Amino acid sequence: MNAELAARDLRVLWHPCTQMHDHESLPIVPIRSGHGAWLTDMDGNRYLDAISSWWVNLFGHGHPRIANAIRAQLDRLEHVILAGFTHEPAVHLAEGLLQVAPPGLTKVFYADNGSSAIEVALKMSFHAWRNAGAEDKSRFVALSGSYHGETLGALSVTDVPLYRETYAPLLLQPFFVPSPDSYECAPGESAQAYSDRCADALDQLLAQHANEIAAMILEPLVQGAAGMRMYPAGYLKRARAACDRYGVHLIADEIMVGFGRTGTLFACEQAGITPDFLCLSKGITGGFLPLAAVLTTPAVFDAFYAEYQTRRAFLHSHSYTGNPLACAAACEVLKMFAEEDWLARNRSTSSTLAAAIEPLRAHPSVGDVRQTGMIAAVELVRDRATREPFDWRERRGLKVYRHALSRGVLLRPLGNVIYFLPPYCISADEIALMVRVAAEGIEIAVNG
Ligand SMILES: *Cc1c(COP(=O)(O)O)cnc(C)c1O
Repeated sequence: MNAELAARDLRVLWHPCTQMHDHESLPIVPIRSGHGAWLTDMDGNRYLDAISSWWVNLFGHGHPRIANAIRAQLDRLEHVILAGFTHEPAVHLAEGLLQVAPPGLTKVFYADNGSSAIEVALKMSFHAWRNAGAEDKSRFVALSGSYHGETLGALSVTDVPLYRETYAPLLLQPFFVPSPDSYECAPGESAQAYSDRCADALDQLLAQHANEIAAMILEPLVQGAAGMRMYPAGYLKRARAACDRYGVHLIADEIMVGFGRTGTLFACEQAGITPDFLCLSKGITGGFLPLAAVLTTPAVFDAFYAEYQTRRAFLHSHSYTGNPLACAAACEVLKMFAEEDWLARNRSTSSTLAAAIEPLRAHPSVGDVRQTGMIAAVELVRDRATREPFDWRERRGLKVYRHALSRGVLLRPLGNVIYFLPPYCISADEIALMVRVAAEGIEIAVNG
């Protein structure tokens, strides 16, 4: 039955982030159901979802609390226009988000996916400055290795060549500053010292160009698509201070790291900072429905608030903005964080994960093992001493992917980086299985 649905699929579907030609040799996997950390295909094979289905799932597939919240909402209201109208789940969720978000954020603007949230934040920042008379502030600053999505604005502030290069002629020209990514430390240099050096570079750029810069955007603590590259919270403090000093907005893209992934509910908490824009999506509904939110400050909101004729309004909209079913799911997610102490549970789960991956550090083809909360990554290298990477054309990660699937684990390496970003319900036994299978896959990939 897998084969039949896979064949029908390839006749009509074009899959995301995929060279479709790969599927001449790589079978597509038709999933029938999901429960907890597990997916089941049409033939009854099971796969441990080690990547939370593209970083969206929080508490496991089919979690009954979220499923029931959506069901209950379905009987009342499936959708309504959010311009001129409102509904209980949209209001309740906004209240809830502002209660748990870093202090100082007071308004919620909804969108329906991560990239759209980034578009909203970029446009809002530019427009707020423009409304304040600072028309020259039309450029953005992003970190090297950044990933903020794939619509043109979001892609403009993305620095992953795989996604950006082809479309470069269509994109805005941001300033890219060096990422504090600890993997890039000079030999013998501490992560702190390196991130301070990067913060100095940011200071210098802002000192020179702040008059043309609307905002700096970053992924707090972990740069996901770059390969789960991680950096110290100190950099966030320095970035916040630099943005304040030079009059530049700070956009925190917590689309991946939000909702407990890094150990705190939001990654910004670890630096004690409040961004001017907090972008949320992915885990916001527990991985059930698409939804995004941009939280912002009274200063930004007030820059738009005036008589209609002043033409200051933020006229941006998506048809499914604030969808009630998605908001109901997200309200239940917040309720689960409040009632079930998932953050404490994650602390224990992440130490189990840390212990499980520790032995990989000694592997001759492993250049780095790193972890922040519930995100862990193993960097494969051709040469451990020089950290010379494997040639991307060799597609070593794909070998790990194939092996893991054959052993019932869904891993989806980013190039030469094998990472773990499991649902929070994962058990110690499941962690052991996930890491064992990854280690086997690494053995096959580096020797193949
Ligand atoms: C996934 C992601 C996005 C884009 O979200 P989509 O819903 O896929 O458009 C943006 N930023 C970060 C950090 C992400 O991980």
